[in-house]
Amino acid sequence: MQQYIDLHTHSTASDGSMSPRELVRHAKHSGLTAIALTDHDTISGIEEALDEARSIGFEVIPGLEISCDFKPELHMLAYFLQDNYMKMKDILEDLRENREQRNPKIVAKLNEMGFNITMDEIRAEAGGDIVGRPHIAKVLMKKGYVESIHQAFEEYLAGGRPAYFKRDRLTPEQGIEEIRKAGGIPVLAHPIHLGMDYAQLDELLGELVPKGLMGMEVYYVDNTEEDTQHLERLAKKHNLLATGGSDYHGTFKPEINIGTGFGNLKVPYELLDKIRLTIKSSM
Ligand code: AMP
Ligand code: FE
Ligand code: FE
Ligand code: ZN
Repeated sequence: MQQYIDLHTHSTASDGSMSPRELVRHAKHSGLTAIALTDHDTISGIEEALDEARSIGFEVIPGLEISCDFKPELHMLAYFLQDNYMKMKDILEDLRENREQRNPKIVAKLNEMGFNITMDEIRAEAGGDIVGRPHIAKVLMKKGYVESIHQAFEEYLAGGRPAYFKRDRLTPEQGIEEIRKAGGIPVLAHPIHLGMDYAQLDELLGELVPKGLMGMEVYYVDNTEEDTQHLERLAKKHNLLATGGSDYHGTFKPEINIGTGFGNLKVPYELLDKIRLTIKSSM
């Protein structure tokens, strides 16, 4: 029987709504065989997820999603940081501090615009050690200022909107380098979100592969069939591992289901076997 996995999920350690433990249970009950936990800029949920996986008999791949500087933003997934993942700690701590300096600016601006929200409310919403725009968006929604998280981004928080403030990020090359130093597999996340045409993406891959990029997220929740076919072709051309996932965030992206995304996503277990083979032969 075909087995399915989800290599892109978020927990309360960043901007998902389920604790790592709940997430792992939810994945198992949903009929999946394995998930990767890929919280934004933090590995703080991994131990708990691995612990739950051991106790219920499930497979969890330790991962991470780093937001890199790019026009406007590029996300780099990391897989199998394994025993070496503590090597990422300092760099992730810098990223966390960076958000902590930026968040109060957003809140001050929103208050100036007439919204009554506080950093305490936002921290309470976050729960984990990464506090960011999705948590601000959720507080705005809970207080009735917007109807959805999406609307909060569209009107106030997204790049170019009135309450947007930039924060320092790693470049994609630095992201790749740090992940490789920690023994991980760097994978370009949701390439379609870069807003490039296929020729531009081809060119970008031509730049990042020599820097150590090893994979690309070919199967993704909001790809069209055509997108997926082009990405399969580009992955083959650049000899990249293909990965896939739903970008599950629980109630932060309520329309997305774990594993199946909007309903028709399917990520076969074989992708994971190929990643493992690559690790065996190259590391
Ligand atoms: P931050 O890292 O704090 O700047 O927040 C960025 C995160 O917000 C991203 O990683 C996404 O998970 C989320 N995000 C960005 N844009 C949107 C959007 N338009 N709607 C919902 N979530 C978004
Ligand atoms: Fe997110
Ligand atoms: Fe992402
Ligand atoms: Zn994600």
